[in-house]
Amino acid sequence: MSSTNQYFSVLHRLRPKASLQRFFITAFTGLIAIACSTAPTAPTSSDSTPSTSSGPKIVTTFLPVHLFTKAVVGDTGQVDILISPGTEVHDYQATPDDAKLLAQADVLIENGLGMEAFLSNLVANAGNSQLQQIDASEGIEVMEGEHEEEEHGHDEHKHEEEKHGHHHHGGKDPHVWLDPVLAQQQVANIRDKLIEKYPNNADSYRSNAEVYIQQLQQLDNEFKEKLASVQGCNFITFHDAFRYLAQRYGLQQEAIVHIPEDSITPQDIQRVQQLAKEHSVKALLTEPGIEDKRIEQISSDLNLSLEAINPLESGETDPQYYFQVMRSNLEALSKACQNN
Ligand SMILES: [Zn+2]
Repeated sequence: MSSTNQYFSVLHRLRPKASLQRFFITAFTGLIAIACSTAPTAPTSSDSTPSTSSGPKIVTTFLPVHLFTKAVVGDTGQVDILISPGTEVHDYQATPDDAKLLAQADVLIENGLGMEAFLSNLVANAGNSQLQQIDASEGIEVMEGEHEEEEHGHDEHKHEEEKHGHHHHGGKDPHVWLDPVLAQQQVANIRDKLIEKYPNNADSYRSNAEVYIQQLQQLDNEFKEKLASVQGCNFITFHDAFRYLAQRYGLQQEAIVHIPEDSITPQDIQRVQQLAKEHSVKALLTEPGIEDKRIEQISSDLNLSLEAINPLESGETDPQYYFQVMRSNLEALSKACQNN
């Protein structure tokens, strides 16, 4: 078995914890009723941007889709974000304010591809029959988990199966926003769906989207140019988020863990050591906020350079933040791959 991707079939999803979910369902039905019968309440958005009072009320789920939507909407409407941009997405817990936000919204835009597994419950609790949902990933060709059957057909992988049994085998990889080309498609999807819903704003949506898409094309060119000399570079990330980006630019990504909330096991370390031996891995890339000493240990044991790469699952809400982070990701990748 030659593939090194057999462990990368499990993808993270955002999901509320069961106990809090029960609390949410019982407690919030009443709160929504109260919210609907009283005067306007304080702003519920976790976004720090001041809201405009007119125009469509659009809610996005988490950071990347929020940045793309804000870029398209500009000043024609209000764009809020459900998951506080400073929160690690996997730590998200739905609150009464979130249900209230959806109860008052016109449109809800999600990344899709299974990333927002909590959403159907939340939407049901919001009880907003007018709410239009937009999937920003519609039509995007997704990566599936690979070699899953093989992995689970073998006894030696039993521990893996146990460990990850609570995750979603056979799921789709939701990290399309980290590929500057697929990001363009997400922006175009958001633009087209919003034009359908609000044709009066079509000109604004079109010109805003055009500017942002051009910036994404420019970014794509920078990635192509800078990574052309390191084709085939094999790098290991902390969590399994960069497969689309790697595929786009002829690189190979492996990961220590599937989702950021996974803790590193001795098996993970063994597997990474094995991969590093078999595939002449060039670098180890950690993430902001991950402070596990074992990552440094792995890098020094295997003599791999250590850089940081940001999966953009939390951060700042200015649409230009995307480019700032992606350019620094490009620097890190390029530097990492030129080592050794
Ligand atoms: Zn992720």
